[in-house]
Amino acid sequence: MILLERRPAVGGTTALSIGSLTAADTSYQRRRGIRDNADDLVEDMWKFDETLLTGDAPSLRRLYARESSATLDWLIRHGVAFAGPFPEPPHRVPRMHNVIPNSRSYIARLHEAAVKGGVLIVTRAEVDRLVVEDGTVVGVHAAVDGEDAEFRAERGVVLASGDFSGNSDMRAEHLSNSAAAAVPVNPDAQGFGHRLAADAGAELKNMDLLFGPQLRFPASPKPGLLDRLPTWRWLCRLEALVANNVPPALLRPVVKSLLVSHMSPTDTMFRRGAILVNAKGERFGKEESPAAELALQPDGRGFLVFDGRIAAEFDTPPQHISTAPGIAFAYLKDYRKGRPDLITRAASPKDLAAKFGFDPATIAAAVDSSDLSGELIVLGPVYSMLTVTEGSIAVDEELRVLRADGSTVRGLFAVGGVGQGGMLLKGHGHHIGWAMTSGRLAGTALARTASVPATNK
Ligand SMILES: Cc1cc2nc3c(=O)[nH]c(=O)nc-3n(C[C@H](O)[C@H](O)[C@H](O)COP(=O)(O)OP(=O)(O)OC[C@H]3O[C@@H](n4cnc5c(N)ncnc54)[C@H](O)[C@@H]3O)c2cc1C
Repeated sequence: MILLERRPAVGGTTALSIGSLTAADTSYQRRRGIRDNADDLVEDMWKFDETLLTGDAPSLRRLYARESSATLDWLIRHGVAFAGPFPEPPHRVPRMHNVIPNSRSYIARLHEAAVKGGVLIVTRAEVDRLVVEDGTVVGVHAAVDGEDAEFRAERGVVLASGDFSGNSDMRAEHLSNSAAAAVPVNPDAQGFGHRLAADAGAELKNMDLLFGPQLRFPASPKPGLLDRLPTWRWLCRLEALVANNVPPALLRPVVKSLLVSHMSPTDTMFRRGAILVNAKGERFGKEESPAAELALQPDGRGFLVFDGRIAAEFDTPPQHISTAPGIAFAYLKDYRKGRPDLITRAASPKDLAAKFGFDPATIAAAVDSSDLSGELIVLGPVYSMLTVTEGSIAVDEELRVLRADGSTVRGLFAVGGVGQGGMLLKGHGHHIGWAMTSGRLAGTALARTASVPATNK
């Protein structure tokens, strides 16, 4: 088995993620006395956005729900450790399992397991063409360190190339203007697999749908404690033991180091009176869809402006500024401690203009258009960002790539973000849940196959 990775190291968006994995009827749930089942998981996933999700790809959603617990066990067997499960409404019971200490742990453990299992991992190998013979995909062509190379596949080719949020042409072709203009968290998510499969006749589904863009603060230039922790197997296990047994309050200082990642401020701040100005200090909208409005502003950069009253409201519970799924809410006091680089105080609009280089009349007009008074507090810069796109290759329950007429592209499989089969995954933990589940199932099935199936359908 060969794994071809275009970057110098494996990791992809998975390594940039928080790392939560949502699963039902798991050993972690049972240990806490939580009774759960796959049918309830499917029903609750629909509750995230009933109109959008119902009917997208129900059989794949059921597959994910049914297999999610086995996926978690499989990851645990490979040495991945988790904390949780944590609640995330509308899930009726806690189902979110958070990887310890960070998402690089998936990469470290699965890399070890692949090498141990005899997988040849070739990095700096960019797949640029599928090799098709007699209608069957029998291999790939790749540029390895710039040199042409062809790899024959005995059992099949699995596309696992992630989403297309980093590809500006594909965003412009498929998404709204604001999503097309938003900043991708992972500019390397180039949608290569989508294009390779489409060239081979595959159907692409729900390419115009996604959840976002979202307002996000830039990541801190300094990595946080959780990011700095090594992913040694024994250390992860020890950390999981601590995380699962120590009262959450004691863990707060540690989880707060998540503030260094791309945190997303809540729209509630706007509903309480904060305003959003662009890089020139102009208030350009009414903050009804702040991320979509900001995406279309010069360089997609903005600042949240609020006053002492709002600052006091968001300084302590219950009004948080952002969440880190399941484990932490972050308040203004946490930002003061963890991300002082994002906070500026100004005595007046004039003072604010001087600090940010805004035109004084422009920022004064922005403040006048609001109910803000007294000292001003600025949180930012903030960007309109895309986490992942949802549009993907059509696949069946065996992860076989499908044409629009329902026939299979023989020898070709797709998993993870590129192989969502049109399934829309709103809510935390579902993307990684699907990526790990689909990858596990496709890998296991192919390992059991003698050679590329002569008739896939
Ligand atoms: C900030 C952030 C936080 C997130 N947090 C969560 C979370 O907590 N829980 C959750 O469920 N989801 C989360 N997500 C989403 C989730 O991380 C992704 O949906 C998931 O990791 C995608 O996995 P994947 O294996 O499909 O793709 P990737 O992890 O992106 O892997 C694709 C790999 O394919 C390689 N590749 C691409 N094209 C080629 C080519 N032509 N040749 C060779 N190699 C190629 C890439 O370099 C990459 O290494 C988050 C995303 C972001 C950006």
